[in-house]
Amino acid sequence: MDQYKILIGLEMHCEISETKTKVFSSAQNGYSSTPNSYIRPVDMGFPGTLPVVNKEAVKKALMASIMLNCSQPEYLYFERKNYYYPDLPKGFQITQETKPAPVGIYGKLRFECNGVYKTIRINNIHLEEDAASTDHFSKYSKIDYNRAGVPLLELVTEPDFNNADEAVAFLETMRAIYQYANISEADSKKGQIRCDVNVSIMNKDLDETDPKNWGTKVEIKNVNSFGGVRDAINYEIKRQIELKKNNKYDEMEQQTRRWDEESETTIYMRSKVDAIDYKYFVEPNIPKFKIDASWLEDIKKEIPVLALERKEKYMNEYGLSNYDATILVKEKALAEYFENTIKEGSDPKLASNWITSIILGHLNKFNLNINELYVKPKMLSDLINLVSTSVISSKQGKEVLYEALEQNKDPVKIVENSGMKQIGDEKEIIKVVLEVLEENPDAITQYKNGRTNIVDFLVGQVMKKTKGQANPAIARSTMINEIEGR
Ligand code: ADP
Ligand code: MG
Repeated sequence: MDQYKILIGLEMHCEISETKTKVFSSAQNGYSSTPNSYIRPVDMGFPGTLPVVNKEAVKKALMASIMLNCSQPEYLYFERKNYYYPDLPKGFQITQETKPAPVGIYGKLRFECNGVYKTIRINNIHLEEDAASTDHFSKYSKIDYNRAGVPLLELVTEPDFNNADEAVAFLETMRAIYQYANISEADSKKGQIRCDVNVSIMNKDLDETDPKNWGTKVEIKNVNSFGGVRDAINYEIKRQIELKKNNKYDEMEQQTRRWDEESETTIYMRSKVDAIDYKYFVEPNIPKFKIDASWLEDIKKEIPVLALERKEKYMNEYGLSNYDATILVKEKALAEYFENTIKEGSDPKLASNWITSIILGHLNKFNLNINELYVKPKMLSDLINLVSTSVISSKQGKEVLYEALEQNKDPVKIVENSGMKQIGDEKEIIKVVLEVLEENPDAITQYKNGRTNIVDFLVGQVMKKTKGQANPAIARSTMINEIEGR
């Protein structure tokens, strides 16, 4: 492995989920459990139908392009990619292949991977339509055209990643960008993100900035989860190194493979010589249109606070660690849960501690999404306030939170019903302090003779008498004040 340098390029598809309608038709853009309910004749390719470009989809695509530091075209247009497949009844896909058609070309993105910043180059980002979805059974297949025409962004990077960690960190960064900018839910479980992964190996001593030195790439199609991307890359690196070691150069041809989840291997699909000629041409039914500089300016102004900026705010304003802040901003919904908890009045550090440890642990354990929790930010904030005002101890608070999460209960109600409220009122505590001192008449003399650690014993007695409900810090300060005042 040490003799080789790995080059990885990504093609990331992400459905734009946040438009009302599809990219070229007035059919609803959304998920329906009834197949073929969100369709219009144009999605089915009926003769005589014409596409109408969805301005909202173009706007979101341009916003993505700006966030990726790409250049935007002066005139936007689309192209036809011609091929037939049952999920594409028109016989062509409307896309943007040839420069300068794409909504964005030649950009770059800085992202963080294992604490180190890296900048990779974006070749282009383009807007296209998704195909229908197919479901295969032993004797027949079913086609659902609800997905046909859903707006899709395809992002193509240069081969600037050198290992699987970097590729996955980039994909996570992009997922967060799409979510924060309200472009997409970017949920791989819903099939909204799909990736093609390109991998090659080259001699370590050669200069990787010169494309002439690059190894022959293998493309792995349609990897549907980030875990799959990581595994597919690592498998492919091993496979290619093995071929090279055994001098099997003829097998190191440019090919397309697919990732097989079950066997955890990549499987041969076709070689470059079988590559399909898509015969691209400019889509004649959509006129070129000018992108106004003032429109781009307006879009720029609408770009919301992204993950990296939020993270910096969490660290600088709330004093969170880099580690905790990174976890909190990874998914927009989690960051919003955290921010709403603070808005409800909770201490940011406590909120962060409890969310990153207990709540995330619970979500992972039960494979839940944060929005599915019964315990809402207001409930969490109220519980945290009970701890920070010493009504209950921190240990009790955590136990209550576990119970609330597991049993879908309001934590404050649990506290009220259990009688576990801490005694933080000095007037109540002083009574117990006086009782304890009365029962231990020698203690004050001993303390004044220098045996100050007798306070530990005395506070212990106060805790015992209150069945652990006295606030230990207040019990201690009240005890010391009382002794020293005598
Ligand atoms: P193709 O013409 O086969 O579609 P492209 O040049 O368009 O190839 O690149 C497609 C993807 O493959 C891009 O993400 C690019 O970064 C990546 N890629 C190109 N060459 C290599 C290579 N030698 N190793 C790894 N990835 C590569
Ligand atoms: Mg290509």
